[in-house]
Amino acid sequence: MPFKAQKHVRQVVGALEKTYPDRGTALEFSDPWQLLTATILSAQCTDVMVNKVTPHLFAAYPSPCALGHADTLAVEMIVKPTGFFHNKAKAIIAESLELCEKWGSRVTPEMDFLTGLPGVGRKTANVVLAHAFGQQAVVVDTHVKRLAYRIGLSESLVPEKVEQDIMASVPKSHWNSLCDALIAHGRSLCAARKPKCSACPIILSCPRNGVHEETPAR
Ligand code: SF4
Repeated sequence: MPFKAQKHVRQVVGALEKTYPDRGTALEFSDPWQLLTATILSAQCTDVMVNKVTPHLFAAYPSPCALGHADTLAVEMIVKPTGFFHNKAKAIIAESLELCEKWGSRVTPEMDFLTGLPGVGRKTANVVLAHAFGQQAVVVDTHVKRLAYRIGLSESLVPEKVEQDIMASVPKSHWNSLCDALIAHGRSLCAARKPKCSACPIILSCPRNGVHEETPAR
Protein backbone atom coordinates (compact mmCIF):
# COMPACT_ATOMS: atom_id res chain seq x y z
CA MET A 1 0.00 0.00 0.00
CA PRO A 2 1.59 3.30 -1.00
CA PHE A 3 2.20 5.80 1.74
CA LYS A 4 -0.65 8.25 1.68
CA ALA A 5 -0.49 11.90 0.71
CA GLN A 6 -0.95 14.76 3.14
CA LYS A 7 -4.46 15.49 1.81
CA HIS A 8 -5.52 11.94 2.65
CA VAL A 9 -3.97 12.23 6.12
CA ARG A 10 -5.78 15.52 6.78
CA GLN A 11 -9.14 14.06 5.70
CA VAL A 12 -8.79 10.94 7.80
CA VAL A 13 -7.52 12.75 10.89
CA GLY A 14 -10.27 15.38 10.64
CA ALA A 15 -13.05 12.84 10.21
CA LEU A 16 -11.86 10.65 13.06
CA GLU A 17 -11.38 13.56 15.47
CA LYS A 18 -14.86 14.83 14.61
CA THR A 19 -16.41 11.40 15.19
CA TYR A 20 -14.56 10.69 18.43
CA PRO A 21 -13.92 14.07 20.12
CA ASP A 22 -12.10 14.51 23.45
CA ARG A 23 -11.59 10.87 24.29
CA GLY A 24 -8.59 10.81 26.61
CA THR A 25 -7.68 7.57 28.32
CA ALA A 26 -10.27 5.40 30.01
CA LEU A 27 -7.76 4.39 32.68
CA GLU A 28 -8.44 6.04 36.03
CA PHE A 29 -5.52 7.57 37.92
CA SER A 30 -4.63 10.44 40.21
CA ASP A 31 -0.92 10.90 39.48
CA PRO A 32 1.67 9.89 36.84
CA TRP A 33 2.91 6.87 38.85
CA GLN A 34 -0.63 5.50 39.10
CA LEU A 35 -1.13 5.89 35.34
CA LEU A 36 2.24 4.25 34.66
CA THR A 37 1.29 1.32 36.86
CA ALA A 38 -2.25 1.06 35.45
CA THR A 39 -0.89 1.09 31.90
CA ILE A 40 1.46 -1.81 32.66
CA LEU A 41 -1.55 -3.71 34.02
CA SER A 42 -3.61 -2.90 30.92
CA ALA A 43 -1.53 -5.13 28.61
CA GLN A 44 -3.84 -7.80 27.18
CA CYS A 45 -6.61 -6.55 29.48
CA THR A 46 -9.53 -4.15 29.23
CA ASP A 47 -9.37 -0.70 30.80
CA VAL A 48 -12.63 -1.54 32.58
CA MET A 49 -11.01 -4.45 34.38
CA VAL A 50 -7.89 -2.44 35.22
CA ASN A 51 -10.13 0.27 36.71
CA LYS A 52 -11.74 -2.35 38.96
CA VAL A 53 -8.36 -3.55 40.21
CA THR A 54 -6.36 -0.35 40.69
CA PRO A 55 -8.46 1.17 43.51
CA HIS A 56 -7.64 -1.91 45.63
CA LEU A 57 -3.99 -1.84 44.55
CA PHE A 58 -3.47 1.85 45.32
CA ALA A 59 -5.41 1.62 48.59
CA ALA A 60 -3.09 -1.16 49.76
CA TYR A 61 0.06 0.44 48.30
CA PRO A 62 -0.44 4.21 47.97
CA SER A 63 3.08 5.16 46.84
CA PRO A 64 5.97 3.84 44.74
CA CYS A 65 7.87 2.98 47.95
CA ALA A 66 4.91 1.05 49.36
CA LEU A 67 4.40 -0.96 46.17
CA GLY A 68 8.13 -1.32 45.53
CA HIS A 69 8.58 -3.04 48.90
CA ALA A 70 5.36 -5.07 48.74
CA ASP A 71 5.11 -8.81 49.05
CA THR A 72 4.94 -10.25 45.53
CA LEU A 73 2.29 -12.85 46.36
CA ALA A 74 0.03 -10.23 47.92
CA VAL A 75 0.32 -8.01 44.83
CA GLU A 76 -0.32 -10.99 42.55
CA MET A 77 -3.59 -11.69 44.36
CA ILE A 78 -4.77 -8.13 43.74
CA VAL A 79 -3.76 -7.89 40.07
CA LYS A 80 -4.78 -11.46 39.15
CA PRO A 81 -8.01 -10.37 37.33
CA THR A 82 -5.90 -8.42 34.79
CA GLY A 83 -4.22 -11.62 33.54
CA PHE A 84 -0.52 -12.51 33.27
CA PHE A 85 -0.45 -11.60 36.94
CA HIS A 86 2.94 -13.14 37.80
CA ASN A 87 4.71 -10.97 35.24
CA LYS A 88 2.58 -7.90 35.89
CA ALA A 89 3.10 -8.02 39.66
CA LYS A 90 6.82 -8.39 39.11
CA ALA A 91 6.85 -5.48 36.63
CA ILE A 92 4.91 -2.98 38.75
CA ILE A 93 6.94 -3.84 41.86
CA ALA A 94 10.21 -3.39 39.93
CA GLU A 95 9.08 -0.12 38.33
CA SER A 96 7.91 1.22 41.71
CA LEU A 97 11.05 0.12 43.56
CA GLU A 98 13.29 1.89 41.06
CA LEU A 99 11.21 5.07 41.30
CA CYS A 100 11.38 4.88 45.09
CA GLU A 101 15.05 4.11 45.51
CA LYS A 102 16.63 5.97 42.59
CA TRP A 103 14.33 8.84 41.76
CA GLY A 104 12.64 9.96 44.97
CA SER A 105 9.31 8.51 43.75
CA ARG A 106 9.13 11.18 41.06
CA VAL A 107 8.10 10.33 37.49
CA THR A 108 9.99 12.54 35.04
CA PRO A 109 8.10 13.42 31.85
CA GLU A 110 10.80 12.27 29.44
CA MET A 111 10.83 9.30 27.08
CA ASP A 112 14.37 8.22 28.01
CA PHE A 113 13.59 8.33 31.71
CA LEU A 114 10.35 6.38 31.36
CA THR A 115 11.73 3.69 29.06
CA GLY A 116 14.69 3.32 31.41
CA LEU A 117 12.34 2.03 34.11
CA PRO A 118 11.94 -1.76 34.34
CA GLY A 119 9.08 -3.09 32.21
CA VAL A 120 8.28 0.24 30.54
CA GLY A 121 8.25 0.34 26.74
CA ARG A 122 7.51 3.17 24.35
CA LYS A 123 3.75 2.56 24.30
CA THR A 124 3.46 2.79 28.08
CA ALA A 125 5.79 5.80 28.14
CA ASN A 126 3.73 7.57 25.49
CA VAL A 127 0.49 6.93 27.40
CA VAL A 128 2.03 8.59 30.47
CA LEU A 129 3.46 11.51 28.48
CA ALA A 130 0.13 12.11 26.72
CA HIS A 131 -2.35 11.60 29.53
CA ALA A 132 -0.47 12.34 32.77
CA PHE A 133 1.64 15.22 31.44
CA GLY A 134 -0.42 16.57 28.53
CA GLN A 135 2.39 16.21 26.02
CA GLN A 136 1.69 15.25 22.41
CA ALA A 137 2.68 11.60 21.97
CA VAL A 138 1.90 8.78 19.55
CA VAL A 139 0.54 5.81 21.50
CA VAL A 140 0.73 2.70 19.31
CA ASP A 141 -1.44 0.05 20.89
CA THR A 142 -2.99 -2.86 19.02
CA HIS A 143 -5.81 -0.69 17.63
CA VAL A 144 -3.55 2.13 16.44
CA LYS A 145 -1.18 -0.36 14.82
CA ARG A 146 -3.98 -2.15 12.95
CA LEU A 147 -5.88 0.96 11.90
CA ALA A 148 -2.82 2.94 10.83
CA TYR A 149 -2.05 0.09 8.44
CA ARG A 150 -5.61 -0.27 7.15
CA ILE A 151 -6.18 3.44 6.72
CA GLY A 152 -2.83 4.04 5.09
CA LEU A 153 -1.07 6.07 7.77
CA SER A 154 1.72 3.49 7.82
CA GLU A 155 2.88 0.64 5.64
CA SER A 156 4.23 -1.19 8.66
CA LEU A 157 2.83 -3.26 11.52
CA VAL A 158 5.95 -2.78 13.62
CA PRO A 159 4.91 -0.43 16.48
CA GLU A 160 8.10 1.67 16.43
CA LYS A 161 7.78 2.21 12.65
CA VAL A 162 4.06 3.00 12.93
CA GLU A 163 4.92 5.59 15.59
CA GLN A 164 7.57 7.15 13.33
CA ASP A 165 5.22 7.20 10.32
CA ILE A 166 2.44 8.93 12.24
CA MET A 167 4.89 11.42 13.71
CA ALA A 168 6.18 12.17 10.22
CA SER A 169 2.82 12.62 8.50
CA VAL A 170 0.46 13.99 11.17
CA PRO A 171 0.94 17.46 12.70
CA LYS A 172 2.16 17.14 16.31
CA SER A 173 -0.83 19.03 17.69
CA HIS A 174 -3.05 16.15 16.52
CA TRP A 175 -1.05 13.18 17.85
CA ASN A 176 -3.06 12.70 21.04
CA SER A 177 -6.47 13.29 19.52
CA LEU A 178 -5.70 11.04 16.54
CA CYS A 179 -4.47 8.14 18.66
CA ASP A 180 -7.42 8.45 21.04
CA ALA A 181 -9.78 8.49 18.02
CA LEU A 182 -8.07 5.49 16.40
CA ILE A 183 -8.41 3.52 19.62
CA ALA A 184 -12.09 4.46 19.89
CA HIS A 185 -12.67 3.60 16.22
CA GLY A 186 -10.90 0.27 16.60
CA ARG A 187 -13.04 -0.61 19.59
CA SER A 188 -16.36 0.48 18.10
CA LEU A 189 -16.30 -0.13 14.33
CA CYS A 190 -12.95 -1.12 12.86
CA ALA A 191 -12.48 -4.36 14.77
CA ALA A 192 -9.70 -6.79 13.98
CA ARG A 193 -12.22 -9.18 12.48
CA LYS A 194 -15.31 -8.08 10.54
CA PRO A 195 -15.02 -4.29 10.72
CA LYS A 196 -18.35 -2.53 10.27
CA CYS A 197 -17.33 -0.69 7.12
CA SER A 198 -20.87 0.23 6.08
CA ALA A 199 -21.18 2.39 9.23
CA CYS A 200 -17.68 3.85 9.01
CA PRO A 201 -17.35 7.66 8.94
CA ILE A 202 -14.16 7.47 6.88
CA ILE A 203 -15.17 4.79 4.42
CA LEU A 204 -14.60 7.10 1.45
CA SER A 205 -11.08 7.90 2.65
CA CYS A 206 -10.18 4.35 3.60
CA PRO A 207 -8.06 2.45 1.07
CA ARG A 208 -10.15 -0.61 1.98
CA ASN A 209 -13.21 1.38 0.90
CA GLY A 210 -15.43 -1.08 2.68
CA VAL A 211 -13.73 -4.06 1.09
CA HIS A 212 -11.99 -5.53 4.09
CA GLU A 213 -8.94 -7.67 3.72
CA GLU A 214 -7.52 -9.38 6.79
CA THR A 215 -4.71 -7.29 8.25
CA PRO A 216 -1.57 -9.43 8.14
CA ALA A 217 -0.61 -10.83 11.53
CA ARG A 218 2.79 -9.72 12.84
S1 SF4 B 1 -13.82 1.44 5.97
FE1 SF4 B 1 -13.72 -0.45 7.21
S2 SF4 B 1 -11.53 -1.03 7.26
FE2 SF4 B 1 -11.66 1.16 6.62
S3 SF4 B 1 -11.46 2.32 8.56
FE3 SF4 B 1 -13.65 2.05 8.15
S4 SF4 B 1 -14.23 0.23 9.32
FE4 SF4 B 1 -11.98 0.22 9.11
